[in-house]
Amino acid sequence: MSENLLQADPARPLPPEVDRRRTFAIISHPDAGKTTLTEKLLLFGGAIQLAGAVKARGAQRRGAHSDWMKVERERGISVGTSVMTYDYGDNTFNLLDTPGHEDFSEDTYRTLTAVDSAVMVLDAAKGIEAQTLKLFEVCRLRNVPIITFINKLDRESRDPFELLEEIEEKLALSVTPASWPIGTGRHFKGCYDLFKDQLILLERSKGERPDEGETCKGVDDPKLDELLPADTLAEFREGVEMARGLCPEFDLKEYLGGHQTPVYFGSAINNFGVRELLEGVGQLAPPPRPQLASERMVQPSDPKVSGFVFKIQANMDPRHRDRIAFVRLASGHFKRGLKMKQIRTGKTLNIHNPLLFLAQDRELAEEAWAGDVIGIPNHGNLHLGDSLTEGEELHFKGLPAFAPELLQKVRPKDPMKAKHLGRALQQLAEEGAARVFKPMMGADWIVGVVGSLQFDVMADRIRTEYDIPVIFEPTIYFTARWLEADDPAVIKGFVESNRSNVAEDHEGELVFMARNAWHLQDAQDTYPAVRFLATRDGA
Ligand code: GDP
Repeated sequence: MSENLLQADPARPLPPEVDRRRTFAIISHPDAGKTTLTEKLLLFGGAIQLAGAVKARGAQRRGAHSDWMKVERERGISVGTSVMTYDYGDNTFNLLDTPGHEDFSEDTYRTLTAVDSAVMVLDAAKGIEAQTLKLFEVCRLRNVPIITFINKLDRESRDPFELLEEIEEKLALSVTPASWPIGTGRHFKGCYDLFKDQLILLERSKGERPDEGETCKGVDDPKLDELLPADTLAEFREGVEMARGLCPEFDLKEYLGGHQTPVYFGSAINNFGVRELLEGVGQLAPPPRPQLASERMVQPSDPKVSGFVFKIQANMDPRHRDRIAFVRLASGHFKRGLKMKQIRTGKTLNIHNPLLFLAQDRELAEEAWAGDVIGIPNHGNLHLGDSLTEGEELHFKGLPAFAPELLQKVRPKDPMKAKHLGRALQQLAEEGAARVFKPMMGADWIVGVVGSLQFDVMADRIRTEYDIPVIFEPTIYFTARWLEADDPAVIKGFVESNRSNVAEDHEGELVFMARNAWHLQDAQDTYPAVRFLATRDGA
């Protein structure tokens, strides 16, 4: 997406309700502190009373509703994506949770298409880790602006300058500190807000929302001499002076363009740096950005409601085949009961029970604005990537489908259940849990995933939700590529000569199943007019 598309059309000011919204996600490597930080953001936002609520709520829901989440609990990872809406100051925040485990990155990628900015959490002892880098690349593809939070300063940490340098080098970003740590490890006292030129000194506290703290203005405030040990203070003052001398100043345009990241330091578990971060997201992060559709750019100020499905969560209650489609609103002021056109089918849907997700609860959404996420309960008619509008033909773009990196054959233990298995696989594929391919020859189904843990989750879900025990087995296939050509006859010719290596995905799109890298290369060389796509727009 080119840069001039990043911000709303200046000639069309945003309605105040849209302007104050911040829809963002947290990206991080597992264990960096995303869950803790999420909890603290909600705590400061007053959305939850006690720390621990995010996990407790999750555990309750899982316990009550779905067995397959056992995989998640056993392995201590989080699989589902949810939305948490809360207010702080003048802003309404929609925090879209992303699964942390690298096996589930596809789901995370999709969530990142629905946010306007991201907070990148790093562990102060580890810096940029593998998963951080992957997720960052996705943000970069879409020019998603990023605020960095360096967490766990209360532990042995790397030098702040070294961390800033690593971000700059590994991510090719300009880096500007928004706050500066005072001491590290056992001597960590808090973070000085460089933007406001002030320090709010808090007591270390793990639980309740902290009190207001002691405010000092300017690095030379004599109050600092009373509050901090002399050597810590001297080191801190020197650090700030160097940081101010060495690092570029914050540049809003650079940040919004995804070229510069303001960096906050802190310790989520001790509430340090959380308020500064929260205010930073409110003040710096962009309000809802325009969304690209095939037909035109959709402005958040457009009066008519439109949006797209970026996440489907199915079988929250296994007794009913209910699903919730999460819709990111791209424009308009939505009111409950609105009739919306599903562009893929041309059908009109009456949205009479949309859901809004608050930190601890969900409630009926009486209204929502561009930037918000609403959940629409349905029975499978809404698909990933679906566009919904008040009638206009709009196809939102940018929801990527990734070529799976791992493929396995799946069959039911009871051969009589083959047909049922087909239906279950179709539903799970629509939800985006995995890719499902039906080769043109033979009776097997092939399941494709990006991380091997997804096979376990699939097997567990098919057994518990559809009552079909299944077996996954190795296949001769190595990877899949969607086929495309300008001339349909070219595809037809290709399919005829390669029937044993062609399959259909759950939407009937043709894919080439390669046995190895050489096989793929050979097909590409032999059929230069055919495009072999590793990703496909729309899922
Ligand atoms: P996630 O995997 O990124 O969601 O990480 P969690 O929030 O679950 O945190 C991973 C571990 O780091 C947990 O044991 C947390 O208690 C711990 N942790 C989180 N924030 C901090 C912090 O600021 N300081 C310290 N010392 N530990 C932290």
